[in-house]
Order: sequence, then structure tokens, then C-alpha cells
Amino acid sequence: MKVDITDILSIENKIVEQQVLSDLAVFKSKLGEFSITKKAPFVLHLENQDNKRVLIQGETDVTIAIPCDRCLEEVSVQIHLVIDRRYPLGNPSAEEDEDAEDTDYMTGSNLDVDRLIYDEILVNWPMKVLCREDCKGICRKCGTNLNYKPCSCDRTEPDPRMAAIQDVFNQFKEV
Ligand SMILES: [Zn+2]
Ligand SMILES: [Zn+2]
Repeated sequence: MKVDITDILSIENKIVEQQVLSDLAVFKSKLGEFSITKKAPFVLHLENQDNKRVLIQGETDVTIAIPCDRCLEEVSVQIHLVIDRRYPLGNPSAEEDEDAEDTDYMTGSNLDVDRLIYDEILVNWPMKVLCREDCKGICRKCGTNLNYKPCSCDRTEPDPRMAAIQDVFNQFKEV
């Protein structure tokens, strides 16, 4: 969803509270593509501060389907997002230049709500996702989901090739 904020950009100290809803249905990152299964409208607080910057604030929750780290079954993970951005107006002073941030959520006078949401999901992405604390995972030899049924494999020595792949996957996740 894009919001035209011409008023905020041009009227000094103008404040608008606007209800918005993200159009984002899928979150794509280097980890893959994940469905956003739940989201809700929320209020964005937009404030022109002395024609120097626009304050953009809001809070919302999204639910994303993420595979369990051990068994790969999808887990609904709720992520709380806090948007708190400052869009600089005019010529930023040296002071403000220092904490200059990425402003690719603005195009002309259009604020891209989906971009704001995307960025917050990215920084709040969970390090670890488990369907349950004691998820037994998948047997590395036969592929059985051990939460549903045991298998008869001898798993005392995990297949070193699978272990290596698992390590690579874990390293990748932690980047
Ligand atoms: Zn699991
Ligand atoms: Zn097995």
C-alpha cells in the first residue's frame, strides 16, 4: 500500500494519524519465500517536525508461516513490528546526516507502507523457529518425521554428509 503524504511533506508541523494496511502477502528474502498468513490494519502516526523531518511511527503484528528448523513443518510465527522512522526534509544538516537512514520507502510524496513492513520483518526475523520446544525433527537417514512415528534407523552416528549440509544450513541462517 502506498500513501500520498503531500500534506505532511509541505505543511509545517502537520500531524496525521492514518489507518493503513500492508498489501504484502509474501515475504521474500535470501532465506526463501514465506507466506504472510495474518496481518491487520494499523495506525500510522505521521508528523512534520519543523519542516526538518517527517516522523513515521506505528506498531502492528504479522503472522508468517516459517518452517520448523528441525522437522520443516510450517509454524505460524507472530512477529511484532515497531516502525519508527525519520524522513529528512530539505537539506539535512551535518548533524542529521550522521544518522541518515535508508529512505527507499519514499518515492516522491508516496510512502510505501509495504517497504516499511518488509524492513521491520527483516530485522525482527526469528533466529530460531521450532514447532515445539521438544521437536524430534526428521530422521537424517530415512526422512521420517519423528514427531509422528519412530523409525528403526540406528541414529547413533548421523550421516556425516547430512550433518555437513545441516551445518551449512545453520550458518546460512545466522548470517
Ligand atoms: Zn518441528
Ligand atoms: Zn530413520
